[in-house]
Amino acid sequence: AHLARIDAVDEKVHAFLHIDREGALAQARAVDAKKAAGEKLGPLAGVPLALKDIFTTEDMPTTVGSKILEGWIPPYDATLTKKLKAADVVILGKTNMDEFAMGSSTENSAYGPTGNPWDLTRIPGGSGGGSSAALAAYEAPLAIGTDTGGSIRQPAAVTGTVGVKPTYGGVSRYGMVAFSSSLDQGGPCARTVLDAALLHEAIAGHDPMDSTSIDAPVPPVVEAARNGSVEGMRVGVVKQFAGEGYQAGVVQRFNESVELLKSLGATIVELDCPSFDLALSAYYLIAPSECSSNLARFDAMRYGLRVGDDGTRSAEDVTALTREAGFGDEVKRRVILGTYALSSGYYDAYYGSAQKVRTLITQDFAKAFEQVDVIVSPTTPTTAFPIGERADDPMAMYLADLCTIPTNLAGNSAMSLPCGLAPEDGLPVGLQIIAPAMKDDRLYKVGAAVE
Ligand code: GLN
Repeated sequence: AHLARIDAVDEKVHAFLHIDREGALAQARAVDAKKAAGEKLGPLAGVPLALKDIFTTEDMPTTVGSKILEGWIPPYDATLTKKLKAADVVILGKTNMDEFAMGSSTENSAYGPTGNPWDLTRIPGGSGGGSSAALAAYEAPLAIGTDTGGSIRQPAAVTGTVGVKPTYGGVSRYGMVAFSSSLDQGGPCARTVLDAALLHEAIAGHDPMDSTSIDAPVPPVVEAARNGSVEGMRVGVVKQFAGEGYQAGVVQRFNESVELLKSLGATIVELDCPSFDLALSAYYLIAPSECSSNLARFDAMRYGLRVGDDGTRSAEDVTALTREAGFGDEVKRRVILGTYALSSGYYDAYYGSAQKVRTLITQDFAKAFEQVDVIVSPTTPTTAFPIGERADDPMAMYLADLCTIPTNLAGNSAMSLPCGLAPEDGLPVGLQIIAPAMKDDRLYKVGAAVE
């Protein structure tokens, strides 16, 4: 049924970069056979899923939305891919994304943009726009995203779906193509809080292949999602997540959510987190710095594309020609920014200062979580903007992640879930819930209560 739905709508939506029709049907049949034989089935047996094209899959291409990896079939499955298979999930294919997960609209994909199913002329968010659009268009009931600065939560918000950035280290990064390793985190996308929890539990947990993976039990997210409540909880509202640039309808729906939380028994606490105003600046030094280092591996020798290798050119020239042809503008912008910020003489002024700001943000969160159990905010300052509107204005694009970035810098967990439509444009608004590290279950407890 989902393959038929993809056939019917994906030409317009363009959520998928690769559809694995035969693989999906084979997986589904294997589940049926297991069931018929009375074998034990995985927790998500037979449930179709759309996988962001940033996780390696040994039986499908992995492009990361880039020409530089066009046609590359990885020699191994990511830990997350393995866990999905072990859960008996049916992987439908790989979803569109901003190249190397850099962007907030999926317009930076080398394979063309994805449309927002609510209005195909608008962006589905990014970088994981394909995964969220697949959910919103009912092409898949579950999807996987990755969130470095908001790429699970912002697409969820603008497509009216649910997305969770787990605690950093909660889901293995082994086999997830690296953008900014200290910020990147894979996580679940779904249409309901409980579905997200079921997927979260299937993909989370310690992995010896990822040195930053946390060796502790997975927070009880499914139990929390089944027992939604905010009774007696202290919920923080941060002063810095408001003001100029916030759309009226987004603010209205957010304020209604706060009223709803109160009526359900939560106490609202106003919080001041001054360092959050610096988060965007710090992020756009740290993320490009790590990206410039991570993307050095695309040297025309190891993977995918190779341009100009005609026997007359040096390896260095072939690398330069390949990177020139294989990387898009935003990726090049970040590699240049990051290389500059890390270069001798500038390191302390830029990268060093950004790391100090990162510490201040972590401290602001720690202080906040002494007073509250969770923090709430709008997920994004605006609803989905038209495709093309911010494509030539990187700063305007970067502002889409104003409310999501502090969480990545601190490494804690956050969810976005729908909280209504903005009256002025009829488009979905996302409510963000933020919890301390390894307290991901609180996101689901609160999310299930207000869903
Ligand atoms: N939009 C942000 C960026 O462009 C976040 C991307 C992400 O979370 N992968 O870096």
